[in-house]
Amino acid sequence: MLLQGKTALITGAGRGIGRAIALRMAGEGCNIAFTDLVRTKQVEETEAALQALGVNAKAYIADAADFDQAQALVGQVVQDFGAIDILVNNAGITRDGLLLRMSEQQWDDVIRVNLKSAFNYTRAVTPVMLRARRGSIISIASVVGIGGNPGQANYAASKAGIIALMKSTAKELGARGIRANAVAPGYIDTDMTQALTQEVRDSFVSRIPMRRAGTPDEVAQVVLFLASDMASYVSGQVIPIDGAMG
Ligand code: NAP
Repeated sequence: MLLQGKTALITGAGRGIGRAIALRMAGEGCNIAFTDLVRTKQVEETEAALQALGVNAKAYIADAADFDQAQALVGQVVQDFGAIDILVNNAGITRDGLLLRMSEQQWDDVIRVNLKSAFNYTRAVTPVMLRARRGSIISIASVVGIGGNPGQANYAASKAGIIALMKSTAKELGARGIRANAVAPGYIDTDMTQALTQEVRDSFVSRIPMRRAGTPDEVAQVVLFLASDMASYVSGQVIPIDGAMG
C-alpha cells in the first residue's frame, strides 16, 4: 500500500488516463478527489469503482481552466478530505490544425485547458502543501512538448509550458518538502487518440520502436511511483512513457 491514508486530487479523471491514475492510486489505499467538466455516466461509474476499492472518493464538477473554480474546489476538497497530499494535473484537450490555418480560438482553448489549468491547481494547492510541509505534484505533459509535432503547435506549446511549470515549482518549493514532476506519454490508447483516423494511428505505431500504443495503466504506474515515497528524491524531472518513441 504505497499511498495508504493519503489524499490525491486529480483533474479530468472521469475517463482515460486520469481514470487509470485514480484507480491505481486507490488500489494503493489513496483517497481520491477528482474533477471533470460534466457529470456524465462515466464520471459516476469512476466514482463508484473507486469507492468499491474501499477508499473515500468523490467527483467534483468544474472547468479546470477557471482560476476561481480551482480555488473554491481545492478549499472544498480540503474540507471534505482534510488534506491534499498529491495533485495530478491531467485535464487536457487537443484542437489540432496546421499553423497556417490555426484559429485564435484553437490556440486559446488548448492553452487554457492544458496549461492554465495546471497553473490554477498548482497555485491553489500550494498553500495547503506548504502548511503540511509535504506534497507531490505530477503533471501530464507529452512527448510532443519535448520534440514538437506538426499540426499540434498549440498542444505542444501547452505541454512544453507544463514542463517548465513543474521544473519551476520544483525549484521554488523543494526546500519546503514539495516535489513536482511531469510525465511525457507518447501514443496512448484513449478516446483522445481513438479520435484520430486509422491511417494516422497506424503511422504513429510504425514510428514506435515497441510497435504498439501504450495503455492508460502504463502511464498510471509511473505517476503512482512519482506520487509515492519511492520517489522521495525525484523532483523537477520529465519522465517519458513512450515505448522509445522520443
Ligand atoms: P481523454 O480520454 O480525452 O480524457 C480527458 C479528460 O479531461 C476527460 O475526463 C475530460 O472530461 C477532461 N477534461 C477536458 N477538459 C476539461 C476541463 N476544462 N476541465 C476539467 N476536465 C476536463 O484524454 P486522455 O488521453 O486520457 O488524456 C489525459 C491527459 O494525458 C491529457 O492531458 C492529454 O493531453 C495527456 N496525454 C495523452 C496522450 C494520449 O496519447 N492519449 C499522450 C500524451 C499526453 P470530459 O469527459 O467531461 O470531456
